[in-house]
Parts: sequence; C-alpha cells; structure tokens
Amino acid sequence: MKAIMYHYVQEYSSDLPYFRYLDIRNFVKQLDLFEKKFGFVSKTEWMLAIERKRLGDAKGKVLLTFDDAMSCHYQYVYTELKRRNLWGIFYVPTQPYITNKMLNVHRIHLLCGAINGVELLERLLYFLEEKMIPDKKIRAFKEDTYTNQSNYEGISQFKRILNYFVSYHYREALIDKVANFFDYKFEAPTFYLSVEELQEMHAYGNIIGAHTVSHPVMSKLSAGAQLSEIVNSFNFLDNINCQTSKTYCHPYGGFHSFDDLTIDILYSQNVQYSFNVEHRDIIDADLISSVQCLPRFDCNKFPFGKAS
Ligand SMILES: [Zn+2]
Repeated sequence: MKAIMYHYVQEYSSDLPYFRYLDIRNFVKQLDLFEKKFGFVSKTEWMLAIERKRLGDAKGKVLLTFDDAMSCHYQYVYTELKRRNLWGIFYVPTQPYITNKMLNVHRIHLLCGAINGVELLERLLYFLEEKMIPDKKIRAFKEDTYTNQSNYEGISQFKRILNYFVSYHYREALIDKVANFFDYKFEAPTFYLSVEELQEMHAYGNIIGAHTVSHPVMSKLSAGAQLSEIVNSFNFLDNINCQTSKTYCHPYGGFHSFDDLTIDILYSQNVQYSFNVEHRDIIDADLISSVQCLPRFDCNKFPFGKAS
C-alpha cells in the first residue's frame, strides 16, 4: 500500500511568480493514474487495517494525505476529491488558529514565491548579524552562503539560513524585517483553511489529523515541549469537533525530524497511527512496528507530481 503526501495544490498566481506548487491539472492527472494503476483505499479498509494491524483489502492501494492546512486544500483538493467520491487525511498545525499569525515555515515559502531569490538573499544578509548564528554553525554558514549565482541558489540559501543556521530566537524578527523591506503582507486568515472548512471536510468523511501546534523540528525540543505540541494540537481538533480517529503527522518528516521521545509520547497519548516521510510502501509489519512513523511518498516520486 502507498500513502502519498501533498502540500500546495493550486493554480498559477501572478502574485507569486516563483512559487513552488503542484498544479491542480497535474493533481487530477496523478489521481487518474493512481485510480487506474492501484485504486484507492476506502476509509473503512484503512481503519480496519489499523485496527487489525494487517493491510487486508487495503493492500496495493493508495491513500492520500495533505499537510499544513493550506486554503487550497478546500478550494482545489476537497472539490476534486468530492467529485471522485474520495477522501483524504488532512494534517493541521494549530497555532495559526490561536494567534492568527502565519507559521514561519509558510512565511518563508511565500517570500520565496513572491520575490526574486537573489534580491531576497541580499536583503537577508543585510539584516543578518553574526550573533544570530550559533557558534557551532558559523563556519558552515560562511562556507555555504557567499557562493550564490542564480535565482534558484538565492532561494535555497535564503531558506537554509532561516531554517537551519539562524537561531530560532531571531528567526521571526528577521523574516519580519525582510518582509517589511519588500512591503510584503502575510494574511493568515486567507492562507489557511478556516475552522468552518475543516468542519465541513471532516463531516464529509475526511480525516483531520494533528501536525503539532507550531510545526517545529520536534527532535530539537525537550520532552515537555514535545508533549505540549502534541497534546495541544489534539485538544484544538477536539474542541472544534474534528477528531474522529486520532492520527498525527511529523512536521518536516524524515527520521531526523523526530526522536524516540516523540514516538513514546504518541503511544502514551493513544495516537492510533502517525505518518513520516520515507519513500516506500507500507507493509503489514509497519502496522505493528512503525505505526507511529508510517512510510509515505512525496507526490513528486510519481508521474505528474513535480512542482511547477
Ligand atoms: Zn508540515
């Protein structure tokens, strides 16, 4: 069985000329292909597989998952799924619903989508001070940063600095400064799914899952901080009546993004199953030994799945 991960699924927007997303037309083509080649797992088949720890009728089929609760998941994805009588699992980071502010990970995506990468990097370096980078990363930062040539390199360095080099303490303010310089405004209410949209999608038969509160790299956090990220994100889903099956998805994904503590917490909170990013099929044994980090393919591993 294959679980597939999607993020942005939408159409070209002239406001975001450099934005990376899966075009809705390619999403449609990819679903056609999956339907023809593998077929889709029904919700009943999937819940039975989890309960019985055996794939059973889900074997060989495809399950669709969507991360980060972007509003395109209502406008494009949900519309297309309804048309096909399909369902999906939608993983929601809950902080934007509390603070009304966009997560840094998404603010970075938007800046990179709206502004030329070379200019973006130049402005970030202008605001960046050495004290904002932990001592142990300074050398790697210097080797990495001053070699940029192309727009693409500008963007990837911009992302690396903000996601990897800069200490979390300065990150938000730096993004604010760069955005202000380019007069770029972030609009959380239109960027994310609304509570009403989540409720409608849930009522229609989709599963809504937890994706932490603030979308951190969990392996960087203490046990207490990890616990509160997980517990509070489930509490939010519970409060808005969007929780039928208790499922979680590791932010960023990959085995470096969480640790044994995370897995222990997921078991202790009676989470039924969780998804990681690991490009391979789910086999029966995973439902026993890897149920809190089930493998999942990026959609770009299959035809029509490349970002535009
Ligand atoms: Zn995510």
